[in-house]
Amino acid sequence: MNIVILTGAGISAESGLGTFRDIDGLWTKYDLNDVATPEGFARNPDLVHQFYNARRMNCRTALPNDAHTALARLQRDCPGEVDLVTQNIDDLHERAGSRSVWHMHGEVTRALCDACGHRWDAPERMEPSDPCPACEAAATRPDVVWFGEIPYFLDEIQDRLERSDLFVSIGTSGSVYPAAGFVAIAAGAGAQTLELNLEPSDSSSAFTEIRHGKASELVPAWVNEVLASAK
Ligand code: NAD
Repeated sequence: MNIVILTGAGISAESGLGTFRDIDGLWTKYDLNDVATPEGFARNPDLVHQFYNARRMNCRTALPNDAHTALARLQRDCPGEVDLVTQNIDDLHERAGSRSVWHMHGEVTRALCDACGHRWDAPERMEPSDPCPACEAAATRPDVVWFGEIPYFLDEIQDRLERSDLFVSIGTSGSVYPAAGFVAIAAGAGAQTLELNLEPSDSSSAFTEIRHGKASELVPAWVNEVLASAK
């Protein structure tokens, strides 16, 4: 069985990393146009670096929770292919033991040179004057995909979705495209579709099965079911 899993901010919420759209979410404290668009970065790179420096610091002190750990166990023990696609810029899947993770919105722990495209491990704090280690231009940005930019790995993800038998969406509001459209691609290819989320998402109606609750409880229970049925 080929399984494609999409995770969003909700899977990291119980690790203490804020989601974007919940009542106390990040967007209530910051304007996304200021901190998550190329235009905002051009206007005020200091503010954008401060925002992602804080995200990077939060990420370093957060620990993976039972949902991340269960998905790593699924990837390790499931006899079929398990592709893990995440909208998250944190590294909690990797730190839980997941080997391959498609970070479609980039990674807060990585840096990108806007001038030459070179990528490297981000230092704890980044500043607009930081030179690129390859070309020395002061054009350093976090390696994250902002609104208006094209997410990473879309061809690879489309290919996996078209070959999937089961698509599972975990902890995402289903409101950011193209990720919100993955369920339709998988369903169109004949896959079963399952949503695991705290509450109904904007795309709940597109799923064949929906379970509501905390990711740290729903995900380990679902992984146990899959591994038991694979024996
Ligand atoms: P979102 O904030 O829009 O939605 C989060 C969803 O998770 C909501 O539907 C909410 O009900 C659900 N949720 C909250 N707590 C949960 C829990 N304990 N268990 C299960 N579900 C829970 O997040 P999204 O859909 O990923 O939004 C997309 C954008 O947010 C992405 O671009 C992503 O890069 C960015 N983001 C990433 C992080 C991170 O890397 N940890 C954090 C915040 C936002």
